[in-house]
Amino acid sequence: MEQIINANNATQYPSIQDMIVPGQGLKTPPVSPFFMDVTLRDGNQALRKPWNLEEKEIIFKRLLKLGVQGIEVGFASASRQDFEACSYLASLAPENVSISSLSRAVEKEIDLSWEAIRKAPKPRIHIVYPISDFTIRNVLGISEKEVKENIIRSVSYARKLAGNYGEVQFSGEHFGDSLENMEFAVEAFQAALDAGADVVNLPNTVERYRPYLFVAMVRKVAEALPQGSKISVHTHNDLGMATATTVESFFAGATQLETALNGLGERAGNTNTYEVAIALHNCGVKVDLNLQSIYETSRIVSRMSGVPIPEKAPLVGDDVVAHRSGIHQDGVSKTKDLKKGAYRAFDADLIGRPEGDRIAFTSQSGKSAVYEILMQSGISISKEEAAKLQPVLKNLSENSGGGELSIQEIQSELEKLRALESPKDKYLQNR
Ligand SMILES: [Zn+2]
Repeated sequence: MEQIINANNATQYPSIQDMIVPGQGLKTPPVSPFFMDVTLRDGNQALRKPWNLEEKEIIFKRLLKLGVQGIEVGFASASRQDFEACSYLASLAPENVSISSLSRAVEKEIDLSWEAIRKAPKPRIHIVYPISDFTIRNVLGISEKEVKENIIRSVSYARKLAGNYGEVQFSGEHFGDSLENMEFAVEAFQAALDAGADVVNLPNTVERYRPYLFVAMVRKVAEALPQGSKISVHTHNDLGMATATTVESFFAGATQLETALNGLGERAGNTNTYEVAIALHNCGVKVDLNLQSIYETSRIVSRMSGVPIPEKAPLVGDDVVAHRSGIHQDGVSKTKDLKKGAYRAFDADLIGRPEGDRIAFTSQSGKSAVYEILMQSGISISKEEAAKLQPVLKNLSENSGGGELSIQEIQSELEKLRALESPKDKYLQNR
């Protein structure tokens, strides 16, 4: 992925030709993403009031319903309660779901992780250790050589515990901040694989720069490691770009995506599972999740976490299906029966949203809005009548500050209009 500076001094991106198959649409990798959910670990540890066991079980069951391929159930060595929760949830795990517990590169933490999850049909020990130059120097205060030795020692230890039965995942913490020592980052991941790791996870522990920089770094690791190495990404949303970073990383070779329900997680949160899933689905990627359960899940998680869903939250926010301006309403109305809507990024049905495109009448709205709103409420109206009613409603809305009119207000204006027009009609008909 070489960077070429062109005449406009802009760096060069992959061309459109790199991303489409002419006449057929978007190019997609021939694999489905493996969703490793981190709601119960990264999400839970950042809650004002972390979940108790009963609540964790509800979230765990929602994750099974959503159909994620892996669930990080916690950090077994963090406390007695964490250990018990990991061990209980592992005992509920079905055959096909990987169950992971996080540990630092310390043998007694790895022991506790394994002890807690070993009863799951697919247990996974997850080891995290910093690899960025900044963290090695300022937090660990040791040499890169020692970092590598610690990685090899802890991963080998976990490999021995898990035997042929369990899996081992290694995360190079602060990978996204490893620009100064990229060569070492590659070496660290290679060492983890050599020591027996099944998956290497590349976290953007803190989102500081641009998505494409991270993606280029993922690409560099993917190209350096042996073909077929399992690469994962775990991104945070500090600058609001975690979804973009994760989606593009998938196209750069990361097949495991670590995400969280409702984007819960430290600071501005982890990557939002729903956004990644629908973005990939829209690009033609086969996403093996029960997408229909997204909307309901988002409501349950919001209630249980005490973290409200913003009105404008993509996909699940209350207001994201509303159309209020005339031009948009006209486009919505004319394309409502087509597979693709002029202003519709996703179908409400796809994510189990009870309500699809919602047209609301404000001072910005046109005659299509009047027609659609009344027809959708079961009141039959002609397009001519809608055109006559629109200026009346616009006035009414303007006089009340330009706000949204209720269906009752619209209906009452329609009745007034019809009452005014009917004597004339009768007169004309009787002439
Ligand atoms: Zn994280």
